[in-house]
Amino acid sequence: MTTAFLGGTGDTIQRGGDATLISQCTKFLAGAPARLASAIAVLVFAAVVLGLASAPAATAQPPAFNAEKIAEGDYAHFGQVALTTPENAGDIANLGIIVGRDAVAVIDTGGSVQVGRALLDAVRRITDKPVKYVINTHEHPDHVFGNAAFVGATFVGHHNLPRELRARAAFYLQSFRDQLGPAAIAEVRIILPTVLVKDTMELDLGGRKLLLQAWSPPAHTACDLTVLDERTHVLYSGDLVFLDHIPVIDGSIEGWLALMPRLAAVPAVRVVPGHGRRVGTWPGALADETRYLSVVAADARRLIAAGTPLAEAVPNIGQSERTRWKLFDDYNPRNATAAYTELEWD
Ligand SMILES: [Zn+2]
Repeated sequence: MTTAFLGGTGDTIQRGGDATLISQCTKFLAGAPARLASAIAVLVFAAVVLGLASAPAATAQPPAFNAEKIAEGDYAHFGQVALTTPENAGDIANLGIIVGRDAVAVIDTGGSVQVGRALLDAVRRITDKPVKYVINTHEHPDHVFGNAAFVGATFVGHHNLPRELRARAAFYLQSFRDQLGPAAIAEVRIILPTVLVKDTMELDLGGRKLLLQAWSPPAHTACDLTVLDERTHVLYSGDLVFLDHIPVIDGSIEGWLALMPRLAAVPAVRVVPGHGRRVGTWPGALADETRYLSVVAADARRLIAAGTPLAEAVPNIGQSERTRWKLFDDYNPRNATAAYTELEWD
């Protein structure tokens, strides 16, 4: 089976909404609708797996898709605490909806276009105001693979997000074929943000200002972005905050720990975490993951100092946290490896 990717290398990714380039792109999108919005800013590069005509249509439905009201104008959808499967369609991350007087912002779009459409349906049950902004909190597929449901909106992200997506899109699309199924992958479009946040930025939805903050150094990832509703002081943290679901390190454990005091200073009262099916208090919601990351870092440093090789060290890192987290065995070995290899060079 032939697999063709658009994207994954710098020279095939076009920026800026050139209609000719987009239409060239769409020629590769076998069977995909070519209704790419003329909106200036949307930049699409896409990987589409060719030769899927015989693949079964996605029939799996994510469980009932709810958006819970968190505060006046603030809503959250809590994804499952699970790995991505064809059955859950990648509905594993928490997503946000913020409604202003004039417009709506959504925060992350879920792990498939199916989830993105369900999120848009949830918006439509709340309000008929336009979705003006899609804010992606970082590059992970469970947060951005639903973006195609919002073509026409303005996509916003950390200034490093385009770089991270470019570097990883081809890999994600390939590796998630097994997890999501080929039909679901075939409709995913990687949409790069055109509004980039360097440090902080305010977006106004009409009587409701959102404070976006692009964090550095790398922590959960190298492009972590948070969104604070300045009217209600609800913080949408993306994956800088995990509750119940074991934290996942894809940036830097030292960087993440270094951010904790700065995160705690964000003037929020409640947080919608990136994973974990509940709202947390602020900054109390940082306590569990701070403890986990501290234990992992301390274990790794101790084993490195003792000269224990990586393969022997990994099963002995973070084990005192085992009963405190869901999906521990799915992610702790990876976190342990990441921490060891990072801290080895200290
Ligand atoms: Zn993530």
